[in-house]
Amino acid sequence: MSKNQVPVLVLIAAFTLLIFPCAFSQKKLTTIIVDAGHGGTRDPGATGQYEGSLRSREKDITLAISMKLVAELKKQLPDVKTIPTRTTDIYQHPTEKARIANENGGQLFLCIHADSGPLKQGKRQIGTREETRYKISYKKVKKKKVKVSTPYTVTVPVYEYFKIPLTRSGTSVWIFAPHKTSDKLKTIMDNADDFEIETDNADSAYSKFDFRTPEGKALADIYQKRFQERSDKLATLVNDEVDKTGRHALGVNQRQVGIWVLQATNMPAILVETGFINNPEDERYLNSEKGQQELAEAITAAVIRYKKQVEGISKANPQNADVKSADEKHEPLKSDSRTTKEQKVLQVKSNKLRIEIFDDGEIDNDIVSVYFNKKAVVENKSLTVNGYVFNLDLIEGKTNELVLYADNLGTIPPNTALMIITDGVNRYELRLAADLKTNAAVRFEITKPPKPKP
Ligand SMILES: [Zn+2]
Repeated sequence: MSKNQVPVLVLIAAFTLLIFPCAFSQKKLTTIIVDAGHGGTRDPGATGQYEGSLRSREKDITLAISMKLVAELKKQLPDVKTIPTRTTDIYQHPTEKARIANENGGQLFLCIHADSGPLKQGKRQIGTREETRYKISYKKVKKKKVKVSTPYTVTVPVYEYFKIPLTRSGTSVWIFAPHKTSDKLKTIMDNADDFEIETDNADSAYSKFDFRTPEGKALADIYQKRFQERSDKLATLVNDEVDKTGRHALGVNQRQVGIWVLQATNMPAILVETGFINNPEDERYLNSEKGQQELAEAITAAVIRYKKQVEGISKANPQNADVKSADEKHEPLKSDSRTTKEQKVLQVKSNKLRIEIFDDGEIDNDIVSVYFNKKAVVENKSLTVNGYVFNLDLIEGKTNELVLYADNLGTIPPNTALMIITDGVNRYELRLAADLKTNAAVRFEITKPPKPKP
């Protein structure tokens, strides 16, 4: 995209995120949006290309599965409004899909797609044909060299070329987040050097939106804080339900680029790559009534489990919540019901500490808050490889306790933080792990050199 397009896109996305702040604060899940990916002649999505393919088009498969999913959700959740973005073969720009979702007050956005992947070309011999070639020789005619061509016939093979079907198959679930890929998907990607993940190629300007720019990062942060944990939760449930059907479940994956519509919707959102359209088994499954219905039922089962978990937390017993939404501002630590399981003691040489906090291990979008003597010193901070620095003044006579509070679990629980603590003399490394039920804590003790005897 050209540089001057960026601010416009940022404005549209920021507008969508900020103008509908209330959609998600409702406790009951009442509105679900189902989006059949692609559509119309302008954006057919992937097509069956391999030899012997059904030549199916992704836009038709996504529509068929989406219609079954809408019907199944309506049947099993009659009190919930389920709204499809499209019910016919029409083209919709990603912003249009996002607008429908946001204006209808959607609280969940389910995007249905099918994967493709580039195909290798094969060739095979289908026969032979006769070909005339010429043997060149020279002879002397009246002391001059003369070229002579003698024709002869050879039999040469005739080939035909065809596209080799993909061997990979299965269903993967995507959420919008900084790029991360599940181990299962990594495995199949490692086995194929030409692996490509689908992007929203309907409009390259949107698929090339760069979330590493400061504007993009700000938007990503807003979305992540509000919806990432719930998106991740639903995605995990969908993967689990797909696994139960016996299909190859490829896990939950995160990415930033190419899933524009996911972060432009002001609600938790997932994208299901239902199967590989260029894998013969998957293509037939995706085109079959049985396959479409099975996927619709698996996704519905996951939504029902998600709904129970989310609603169970917000009404009856918040103390027993196994999920804490990052968009709900948590109470001050002292009134929180979590227990502090692990308390480390660190002896330091000074009452002035500099602390740098990182995500420990693989970067998986851990969001934490840090409390010092029961006051927040870090709030809703997304941990990265780049450290976040803060300073502490230890007070003599106080407990001087630092508590790590997990605002989410990241994608690889628990929520782990590496702290580099310097007291002006020494440097300490401390690893803390917290989850949604337990905090981690460290208590500082100031050890001063013994006073000289009088
Ligand atoms: Zn697609």
